[in-house]
Amino acid sequence: MIVNENHDITALLMQVEAMSELLNSIDACVFTKDLDGKYVYVNADVAALFQTSIENIIGKDDSHFFDLEQSKQLRKNDLKVIKDKVTVESEESNFVRCTGKVHIYKSIKKPLFNSDGKVIGLCGISTDITDKKLLEAKNQEQKHLLDVILDNVDAYIYMKDANRHFRYVNSKVAELFGLPANEIIGKRDTDVIPQEFADHFWQTDKLVFENDDKVVINETSLGADNQEHHYLSIKVPCDFKTDSKTLIGFSTDVTELYQLKEKFKQLANTDELTGLYNRRYFFDNAKREFNRATRHQQALAVISIDVDHFKAINDKYGHPIGDQALIKIAEIIQPTTRAEDIFARIGGEEFSILLPNTSKLQCQQAAERLRNILDTRKIELTCGLTLSIKISVGVSILKPSDNCFQDLYARSDIALYKAKSIGRNQVHMID
Ligand code: GH3
Ligand code: MG
Ligand code: MG
Repeated sequence: MIVNENHDITALLMQVEAMSELLNSIDACVFTKDLDGKYVYVNADVAALFQTSIENIIGKDDSHFFDLEQSKQLRKNDLKVIKDKVTVESEESNFVRCTGKVHIYKSIKKPLFNSDGKVIGLCGISTDITDKKLLEAKNQEQKHLLDVILDNVDAYIYMKDANRHFRYVNSKVAELFGLPANEIIGKRDTDVIPQEFADHFWQTDKLVFENDDKVVINETSLGADNQEHHYLSIKVPCDFKTDSKTLIGFSTDVTELYQLKEKFKQLANTDELTGLYNRRYFFDNAKREFNRATRHQQALAVISIDVDHFKAINDKYGHPIGDQALIKIAEIIQPTTRAEDIFARIGGEEFSILLPNTSKLQCQQAAERLRNILDTRKIELTCGLTLSIKISVGVSILKPSDNCFQDLYARSDIALYKAKSIGRNQVHMID
């Protein structure tokens, strides 16, 4: 009997020893405390933390090892476990006296019961997460810093993967799409912007992924103000060693610059007095039309107009009245031209019309119609003055022997001066 009992105790002790060895190797503080908060059991990690022996800890409470004023959560949790008989899982920031430092723990504390179901103390396991927390805080701080920078750059910054999902957007993008950033990240572009614009952006995104190279491009989209916006976009591939390829995009709103450029372009092509196309626009486009017509063997015609005795109007009424007359002449001729025609003021009181796909007969009729309108209609100026204005018109059509537009144009000019010489208020054609 005694032999058996000894045997049982030895077996039990071996189990306790094995258990305590296990508890010493789990890289966490394991402990039990009685109802007075005195330690009944601590593993080696607790002894290492308090920089003393296990024997020196047993029987002592936390006031010996922690500054309890600065470790309030510890006391609160212990009391809750004992009083409410519940398991408490929480983070504790404990000020350890011997290290003079605050340690952050993830603690699980459970009540201990005797065989009658009465609470006799608690047991706990606390994992030191101080380094992890510091790292988290550092990462958080860096992320915050980066967010502050990226949100304050005057550009739309975003990351997209090869499946058209947003992986990052700065606050400018969120504002543009009218959604919080966290409702955009993870979504497909077509889920957050109209299909038409999403597809437009995807054309360039695709290039970045296909060529694995940076792309610089102009893009257009509808802004939150429902207006068309123009962007200068730089898209760069970046390898995050993740499953999907990613790009970083920087898009700057250049709408104002774009509009200014368009305005300058328009101004550079427009005659200031009449608002018609100017000489430069006429000849630039005429060259293009000439090449197209000769390549496709299509018809092309030029009508050149010069106001008869215009100097006399200036001499009689003054230059400003002459100007008003020129504006009126432009207004009368303009509606007679087709959308594909180019009607321009070449200079002074001379105008030209370029007529693509127009036969000899058609352009002759058009010229005659013009001459007739001015011949029969009186020009009424805003000042109340009424003028009778006549024009001479020269017409030429494209010939296979023409080498350049100037060849065709020169004939309309010669025809015009022929019309002058044979009496003015005439149409003359050289084919
Ligand atoms: P024709 O063509 O029938 O031979 O006579 P014309 O009097 O029209 O010819 P000319 O070339 O001698 O004179 C053209 C006049 O057009 C001279 C110039 O004062 C006038 N002129 C040219 N540009 C402008 C302009 O911008 N405004 C005004 N008011 N007159 C202009
Ligand atoms: Mg002239
Ligand atoms: Mg003239």
